[in-house]
Amino acid sequence: MGQRSGPAQRTRAGTLSKGRNHKPATRLASAGRRSDWTGPVVNPPVWRASTHLYDNSADLAAGRANADGQFYYGRRGSPTQWALADALTSLEPGAAGTVLYPSGVSAIAGALLSVLKAGDVLLITDNAYEPSRTMARALLADLGIETRFFDPLDLAGFPSRFCERTRAVLLESPGSLTMEVCDIPALAAIARAHGAVSLLDNTWASPLGFAALEHGCDASIMSLTKHVGGHSDVMMGSVSTGAALYQILRVKAQALGLVVSPDDAALVLRGLRTMGVRLDRASASALTIARWLRDQRQVAQVLCPMLEGSPGHELWQRDFIGGCGLFSFVLQDHTPDQRARFIDALQLFGIGFSWGGFESLAIPFDPARVRSVTTWPPDQLGVRLSIGLEDPDDLIADLARALAVMGA
Ligand SMILES: *Cc1c(COP(=O)(O)O)cnc(C)c1O
Repeated sequence: MGQRSGPAQRTRAGTLSKGRNHKPATRLASAGRRSDWTGPVVNPPVWRASTHLYDNSADLAAGRANADGQFYYGRRGSPTQWALADALTSLEPGAAGTVLYPSGVSAIAGALLSVLKAGDVLLITDNAYEPSRTMARALLADLGIETRFFDPLDLAGFPSRFCERTRAVLLESPGSLTMEVCDIPALAAIARAHGAVSLLDNTWASPLGFAALEHGCDASIMSLTKHVGGHSDVMMGSVSTGAALYQILRVKAQALGLVVSPDDAALVLRGLRTMGVRLDRASASALTIARWLRDQRQVAQVLCPMLEGSPGHELWQRDFIGGCGLFSFVLQDHTPDQRARFIDALQLFGIGFSWGGFESLAIPFDPARVRSVTTWPPDQLGVRLSIGLEDPDDLIADLARALAVMGA
């Protein structure tokens, strides 16, 4: 490393084919590591770089080719960012490349702006992360891109949502807050038959839990802020895709000036190394807690795809190979004030957005006001939990005490 002409050409094919023979836990340990990026140390150094100095004019001219993994200028990144992108690519079966974005929301925007132009129609699942919906109204509409929402569970009605201008479908499964699991392979196949690309917000499962591209999606989008960062101290997003779309995403991201800092990339890469054990622990605790909640008289329904009998469990079992600590439940016959008392009585659960960190969080939710083509009974009061790494017995005791306070 460190030749002034930049690191050697990437040897992506070799790295990936070797890595893919191993199980995810093994791949996490070394994904993205290349000696021409790391030198003799384990982790890629943090390359804080805007300017790259060239040997001579010919060298400078060669840099203009915009080759992947070559120094040019800070906006195209440095080995720190490339190592993270490469690691994410090697974890997503079928991906040829990954583009990093400053947040999950900017990753969704970057993907949509890469595949849509004025006059096109976008279909968004009605249970999408709320800022994805806002993006349609506050950004895409001004660019002449029309958005229509669809019910992710209405497979039979899905083909009728398309018109000849429909170019993209934004999927999310399980859906934000309400956790519906949709038939991604079937929806993606219908989209493809209509000439539209399928973009999946795969933040919940990550590639360790759901192989988006192998199930027919064209792009796997993640908020790295959640599981991958995992420590509530960094924001970032990613889109992993096949070769053709990757080149488009990369050019669009550069055109928008989207770049992530090498310090942040190093933090996310550090989080990635332990993501497997954190997800295992959080999933197991979440399932234990979901089973316990199901038996509480104050709870009407648990919305946890990993839980036997919970909505979407069969599809989750068919398509997913992992879960995480995020799930929701609905209170039985309580008032919003009582729900607030429950949330406020929690001592181990923080009250806050985001999820996938080491600490448990709880928030109330009321999706009725944000739905377009599906409904949610307004009297169904939801609570979303993000289960962290604490001992599940202590978390259950905390929930039990808060439920008692709520009813008192
Ligand atoms: C948090 C989240 C995002 C946005 O990620 P940020 O990094 O917070 O911008 C996108 N999709 C889902 C499902 C999320 O939960």
